[in-house]
Amino acid sequence: MFAIAARRMGYRVHTFSPETDTPTGQVADVEVTASYDDLDAVRDFTRHVDVVTFEFENIPVTTVDTVAEHVAVRPSGAVLHTTQHRLREKTFLARGGFPVTPFRPVFCPGELQAGMRDLGLPAVLKTAGFGYDGKGQSKITSLSEAEAALGALEGQEAILEAFVDFECEVSVVAARGLDGTFAHYGVIENLHRHHILDVSIAPAAVSPKIAHEAVEIARSILEALDVVGVLCVEFFLTRDGKLLVNELAPRPHNSGHLTFDACVTSQFEQQLRAVCGLPLGSTEQYRSAAMANLLGDLWQNGEPNWLAACAFPEVKLHLYGKLIPRPGRKMGHLTALATSAETAARLVRAARTALQQAGEGIPFSKNTSHYTPSP
Ligand code: AMP
Repeated sequence: MFAIAARRMGYRVHTFSPETDTPTGQVADVEVTASYDDLDAVRDFTRHVDVVTFEFENIPVTTVDTVAEHVAVRPSGAVLHTTQHRLREKTFLARGGFPVTPFRPVFCPGELQAGMRDLGLPAVLKTAGFGYDGKGQSKITSLSEAEAALGALEGQEAILEAFVDFECEVSVVAARGLDGTFAHYGVIENLHRHHILDVSIAPAAVSPKIAHEAVEIARSILEALDVVGVLCVEFFLTRDGKLLVNELAPRPHNSGHLTFDACVTSQFEQQLRAVCGLPLGSTEQYRSAAMANLLGDLWQNGEPNWLAACAFPEVKLHLYGKLIPRPGRKMGHLTALATSAETAARLVRAARTALQQAGEGIPFSKNTSHYTPSP
């Protein structure tokens, strides 16, 4: 979606990834396939581009530092370094006075027990690095569960967090330009299933006071990190009306995908503008919107019924061109626009349910169901 925004504005796009035929590669001018650790390939890549950004946190910082020796990287490797590691991220937030879920670093069983004593149960144990969409995290309700969860992390650094019995989860997708200008898309409500984002609804049904607080927290975080680009702040809203920052994503975020159809400037174009040093665009939202993710699970009984979903005129279908629909894999999304957020949410869910009706796929589309999912 970033590459589509860039191509639309006349930019050429080169993409670097360890995989072939990536969603970006299908739109980019040049797709380079190499390991992130192949620093010769990384250096060669930089010879053909003017500026580099990333759309995924789990890139080694040495790769980004190597890029930065040759061309500008936005946001900087320092932003990536802080946000790709939950402990560094939470420590940065806590030191900056931002409200966060209570947490403790856990490197050994003794620290786990002490953490459980301090934070109480239930709690959530997460890997400090290389986790997303609930990967590498478990809810803990007893000492034996805690020990099993720590064992499963096989010596990786971990973080123990108090379990938050939240009212809802919300995010603020925001951007900061090269000149320090700030823009945001308001507060978006996010509903998760099995720790994976399921549905996002904008605007979120929160009070103007909470919306103002969330945006101001996001503004201060982008400033404190000196971000150039888009960054998403994910929050828990507690039952007593407090915002706690759960996570930062230094890139366009799944909860902002609805801006592609719903806003004057999508989060992807905003990222492009920031990274290329252009003025930021208007974030005005045309209509209320909701987004529903399409996970690989939808393919379990064969090709989803695309015609049935496309029969909803207010719903837009996005498929990312990924060939193998593994369970839990984000294959695409639907966005619905409506006069109210509730109607948009109802429409997008109905369209997704329609995908499971018996029927045909889109005529002449690239059919994915004949690919055998890998184990
Ligand atoms: P994360 O990968 O940290 O964003 O976690 C994914 C999802 O798991 C969150 O969006 C929440 O729904 C849930 N989750 C994570 N941490 C906690 C927590 N400390 N308390 C309650 N739910 C959590």
